[in-house]
Amino acid sequence: MPSRPDPAAAPATADEDVAAVHLHEVEHVYGGAGGPVAALGPISLTVPPGTFLVLVGASGCGKSTLLRLVAGFERPTSGTVRIRAAEPVPGGGAEPVPGRGAGIVFQQPRLFPWKTVGGNVELALRYAGVPRAERARRVPELLERVGLHDVADRRIWQISGGQQQRVAIARALAGDDPLLLLDEPFAALDALTRERLQEDLRRVSTQTGRTSVFVTHSVEEAVFLGSRVVVLTRRPGRIALDLDVDLPRTGVGPDELRALPEYAALRAEVGHAVRAAAA
Ligand code: ADP
Ligand code: MG
Repeated sequence: MPSRPDPAAAPATADEDVAAVHLHEVEHVYGGAGGPVAALGPISLTVPPGTFLVLVGASGCGKSTLLRLVAGFERPTSGTVRIRAAEPVPGGGAEPVPGRGAGIVFQQPRLFPWKTVGGNVELALRYAGVPRAERARRVPELLERVGLHDVADRRIWQISGGQQQRVAIARALAGDDPLLLLDEPFAALDALTRERLQEDLRRVSTQTGRTSVFVTHSVEEAVFLGSRVVVLTRRPGRIALDLDVDLPRTGVGPDELRALPEYAALRAEVGHAVRAAAA
């Protein structure tokens, strides 16, 4: 039998041990000239590997704060944030560091404008330590995945905003990080582009099986993308609703999915919770 830590000494449960993201009693308060702002929590959340978690809530309820805590850009005022890969490192005693092993996509894509589309993805692979020969193989593969194979040689400033956001997603996927963090990545896009990218992201995330935490204020987007949807209350954000989304992730087209009665029911339930939480 594999040796396990003394349960009394290690309060984490088995669930928490294998979780990709684990928040325990996390609270975040911003300081500043205007006095303290309680932005988030207390909130506890355990996200199993492979989950596509969507956080939805009104503007200002603490969604970005939660994502920044998971990314390691901020430290919680109280409580603990842990992230880890699906496979614990053998013999690794050190606590995983938030932010290490996470690919991040922001509302505005952060790219190298003077490089080509392919060059941006190539660079992400290089940062991830992928050898040159393999990079040459994987760049077209990643661009194909996000539908950019025919603009690989264009400069960033020569492509549309929607295409730039696809480059950002391809870069995040290139990193091979087990965790993807996405903060309203489609908010600035027109409705059609947004829908196409949602479909791409749903398909790609299902294919790669990565854990994702995706932030949005759109109920529609939450139900379409999520395998689990968490609705936050208004600031300081706490969990108002935590729902497993039991919709098929393969074998149905987007229109078919949106036409399912279960889809409409989930949208109504999440929409109701969002409105109640914001009231
Ligand atoms: P959301 O992403 O859900 O719109 P945020 O997490 O960005 O919300 O912000 C939550 C609350 O914290 C808001 O009231 C916001 O004004 C406040 N806030 C965010 N960042 C800071 C900061 N650096 N300093 C002070 N207050 C902040
Ligand atoms: Mg935000």
